Amino acid sequence: MTKSSAKTANFIFFTSFSLLFIGFILLGLGWKFYVQEGVSLFEVLYITLSLAVLAALVLAWLLSLINTRYQLPARWLTVFSKWTLHHMLYYLARFFSFICWQKKQIYQESFLHYNNKTVVNAARGKRHQNILLLLPHCLQNSKCKIRITTDIEACASCGKCDIAVLKALVHKYHTRAAVATGGSLARKIIKDTKPELIVAVACHRDLTEGVRDAWQYPVYAVLNERPHGPCFETTVNINTIENILRKFQ
Ligand code: SF4
Repeated sequence: MTKSSAKTANFIFFTSFSLLFIGFILLGLGWKFYVQEGVSLFEVLYITLSLAVLAALVLAWLLSLINTRYQLPARWLTVFSKWTLHHMLYYLARFFSFICWQKKQIYQESFLHYNNKTVVNAARGKRHQNILLLLPHCLQNSKCKIRITTDIEACASCGKCDIAVLKALVHKYHTRAAVATGGSLARKIIKDTKPELIVAVACHRDLTEGVRDAWQYPVYAVLNERPHGPCFETTVNINTIENILRKFQ
């Protein structure tokens, strides 16, 4: 098992486990109502509805798992599985990972790896012209006099932070990059540029929120490095970014 697969397995385990757990509880309740006399209509409706919701969740999860390796036959199936993954299964698995005392960051990292797998699978065989490299503001050197927002072309390429190298990469691969100072700006940049694919760099929390927020877009997540602590003069592995750009172009 590769390192990436091992990280992905964590999210797969908690999602599958949570669905199985709820399934057993509901089937147990259903059986109890079935053998018991004098079951009210409300109880029958309650169990039937809960089982129907659970069946929809299980279906979405199975489709999502298939989607990490194969393309789904219809677009609506992809939308259904993605929406459910980001809006429901994420919370369900998060709850079970929380009660199992798992660190939030480990769970988030696993979710991001899982998401990347689906992005890579969806991009297989495609060449992307319009890739947006979305960067966090904390990559910039804190003493830099130039305030870089949205477009990194303003960078004077002095080499004191990774922005200069990323700017060179953007030129080399004829793509575009933007610096977002927050979620609202990131949303605006995405809305304005309508990228085919987003490569987003950020910390665990921002990436997880960003990937889920922009769930309709394929967002490949790259965690930044924090040698000076969070949100201050962070860095990113340039080789990783270059390999990703090569992979998707
Ligand atoms: S590389 Fe660009 S952003 Fe970084 S400190 Fe130099 S001018 Fe500022």
